[in-house]
Formats: sequence, structure tokens, C-alpha cells
Amino acid sequence: MSVNGLRVIEIINKIGEVIEKNKLFLTELDAAIGDGDHGLNMSKGFNAVKEKLKDDNGNNIGNILKKTGMALVSNVGGASGPLYGTAFMKAAMVVNGKSEIDIKDFEKMLEAALDGIKMRGKAELNDKTMIDAIEPALNSLRSSIEKGLCPKEALKEAVDAAYKGVEHTKEIAARKGRASYLGERSIGHQDAGATSSTLILETIYKEIQG
Ligand code: ADP
Ligand code: MG
Repeated sequence: MSVNGLRVIEIINKIGEVIEKNKLFLTELDAAIGDGDHGLNMSKGFNAVKEKLKDDNGNNIGNILKKTGMALVSNVGGASGPLYGTAFMKAAMVVNGKSEIDIKDFEKMLEAALDGIKMRGKAELNDKTMIDAIEPALNSLRSSIEKGLCPKEALKEAVDAAYKGVEHTKEIAARKGRASYLGERSIGHQDAGATSSTLILETIYKEIQG
């Protein structure tokens, strides 16, 4: 099973729609332990992405992801813009020149994205950030592919792992980002960025399944 560039653009636009639908939810999560702008930030970013991709011919998936990352970096205020922007730009590099990608490419993209986020934000697992959703999702995807699971099943498992990661963020104190100012008082609340990452992964899974 492979996905072509035009389909990648459709999936990215769908991510934008899902972010838009969850704008208030993400903002409320961020308001509890941050400054309440995560939904707004993400919505603004993905609106800019949509505009930037509207005339793309879909021939180079690397280019599509690079444009996405650049639009996020330059239109999103807040920590999440540069972090998600870096994630998409790093993912772009591993599929540069490709007009079609498969699940193994996606594994490499997610790996590059996670490395980029860690490099940029200097956070690790259990710091209560988006990493707490993305890293378990990547680990799950890796072992599913090794076990020979079909792409849909592998993505489903990865989304489940990301949701578990989001649940785990409720139990830990933030050590990075604005929520870290609250320290122990951030316990009990789920991380906004881990939640948006999971929504992104879930959208990819649903689109692949559909
Ligand atoms: P800001 O915190 O600047 O207001 P957002 O509200 O858009 O930016 O994004 C907050 C989210 O960004 C957090 O919920 C967390 O998941 C993520 N985040 C913050 N700092 C880091 C970091 N250093 N590494 C990874 N993710 C981070
Ligand atoms: Mg915020």
C-alpha cells in the first residue's frame, strides 16, 4: 500500500480540519497549565499550510512536507510552531524526491520528526510534552512493522499507543514548556501538545483506512 503526493496533501488538509474542530478543546487543555493558545496556534498554522499547499502538484512529497513545516514555523507563535515545523521539515528530508510513500517511509518520517522535536526542544520522554505521545507511537509502529502487521493495523496500534501516552501525561509533572512553571501542580492535566500530536496521528490512520 502506498500513498501519492496529492493524497498526502489531502491528508494534511484533513489534519487542519480536525485541528479546527478541536481548537477549543486544545486551547482549554493549554489554559489549565499553560497560556491557553495551543488550539489557536495550531489552527492558525494549518490555515497557513492549506494556503501554501493549494497549488502544489504533488510530485515531490518531500517538498509538500517542507512547505508544511515552513508554514508552521513562520505562522505559529508559541513553542509548538517551531517544534511541529521542525518535525515536518525533518520528515521532509527522508522522503525528498519521492512521489509515493509506504508505511516504512512513514516510520522513517516519524522517527526523523521525533528526533527533530527532541533536538529543537531538548525534551525527553516523561517531560509531559508531545514527545510522550509521539515516542510510544513510533515504538509501536516499529514493532508492528517488524512483526509484519498490515499498515492499517500498524497505524491503529500506533494511535492507541499515542492515546496511552496522552493518558500518562496526566500522571506526571511538566519539566519542559510553560507547564513546567507549575511543576507538581501540572499533575492531573493532560498535555495539549501530546493531545494535538495524537489527533494528527489518528487523522492519518483514519485517512489511510478510509
Ligand atoms: P506555548 O507553550 O509557547 O504557548 P503552545 O501552547 O502552542 O506553545 O504549545 C504547548 C505545547 O508544546 C505543550 O503542550 C507541549 O506538548 C509542547 N512543548 C512545549 N515545550 C516543548 C519542548 N521543549 N519539547 C517538546 N514539546 C514541547
Ligand atoms: Mg500555549
